[in-house]
Amino acid sequence: MSRLIVAGGTIVTMDAARRIVRGDVIIDDGQIVEIVQTPTSAGGHDAAAQRTAQRPAQQIDASGCIVLPGLVQAHTHLCQTLCRGAADDLPLLAWLRQRVWPYEAALDERAMRACARLAAAELLLGGTTAILDMGTVHETDALFDAVAATGLRATIGKAMMDAGDGVPARILEETRRSVDESDALAARWDGAADGRLRYAYAPRFVLSCTEELLREVGARVHKGARLHTHASEQEAEIAIVRRERGADNIVYLESLGLGGPRAALAHCVHATDDERRRLAASGTHVVHCPSSNLKLGSGIAPIPEMLAQGIHVALGADGAPCNNNLDGFVELRLAALLHKPRAGATAMPAETVLELATRGGAAALGLEDRIGSLEVGKRADLIVVEPRTPHATPSFAPVSTLVYATQSRDVRDVIVDGRLLVRNGALTALTGLDRDEVVATAQAEAERVQSRVRA
Ligand SMILES: [Zn+2]
Repeated sequence: MSRLIVAGGTIVTMDAARRIVRGDVIIDDGQIVEIVQTPTSAGGHDAAAQRTAQRPAQQIDASGCIVLPGLVQAHTHLCQTLCRGAADDLPLLAWLRQRVWPYEAALDERAMRACARLAAAELLLGGTTAILDMGTVHETDALFDAVAATGLRATIGKAMMDAGDGVPARILEETRRSVDESDALAARWDGAADGRLRYAYAPRFVLSCTEELLREVGARVHKGARLHTHASEQEAEIAIVRRERGADNIVYLESLGLGGPRAALAHCVHATDDERRRLAASGTHVVHCPSSNLKLGSGIAPIPEMLAQGIHVALGADGAPCNNNLDGFVELRLAALLHKPRAGATAMPAETVLELATRGGAAALGLEDRIGSLEVGKRADLIVVEPRTPHATPSFAPVSTLVYATQSRDVRDVIVDGRLLVRNGALTALTGLDRDEVVATAQAEAERVQSRVRA
């Protein structure tokens, strides 16, 4: 594999000391092998040039740019990307029953591949390098396969649904089959694509799952599997859980083994005080999705309070039908702004929010020893941002620039696992994605799926 040098940038390392240095990131076989700080008097290119002479390397000039860990989105639904704009202005349960579930029931392999390719193009071009993704009930092999080909890092799980009102027959499963199929997918895909792909069991949410299914998943989490689900997103959902299962949502999940450091719960907007204490004590990850929570009218998750309590928090865009973008920089900015009217302007400072989107996301995926910061020994997942634009100039403090002023179109280069997937704002051949073809195919496939929904 190739040697790559990202030279002369301002490196926001997000390491334990949160060092910001000017210099070169040296990448070998997909791993960061050295971060060479530029001496204040000399130019960074001399050091980089010397290293290039030692061994042939591709060099990316990042002078004047900000280099940072790729954004990690710990809650996405790539399978919903073709439903963008087809499920607006509804609350959660109606949104699921009237729009999203009928759409997912109409997905076939072709449409799933178009979803994954469209989403990967958007994510990579916008600086997201890793995701925790919930698929739908079927076509999970196609989802994994399509994502693998793009080079994106992804932990994915098939949605598990063996219960619920208003679920189309095609995506309502028999319990045993749901568990067996999840086990088979985990065996096939966990660790695939040089370790870029991982598996996370994904019971959709309590209302979609029997207690038996949740218990089966809990047993697997206990033995080391990862968990990705939704919890306490809206009050109507929590009221039904309380009525049907006799406990608060997160308490109920925990009682079945669905919590702890290998678990990521999306939303937790309405977590009670007792539930927040449990989330902190168990080390469960909460994934904050500010755009989604606003658009579905879910409420504002008490993220500053959760962080103060020691809860692990990550960020995610959720799916295209509830956002409607998969833009990591929009979520960064919103996560910083959303809490200030209630918690004060000092709540959620830029540094904290950038942590959630990098180290926090890596931890939610269980990959904190591999990604989430730029340090020697970690995998090379990093992005180069161009701050010299009318909307981001002047730039004094790179973290402020990144959280409050940067737009995803400022992402110039993207590297995942040492592979250059975006160069000068364009997808490279390594992604197998042609921007225009991906967009045209997605539009055609979306129209075909909607006609299947109506049929
Ligand atoms: Zn979701």
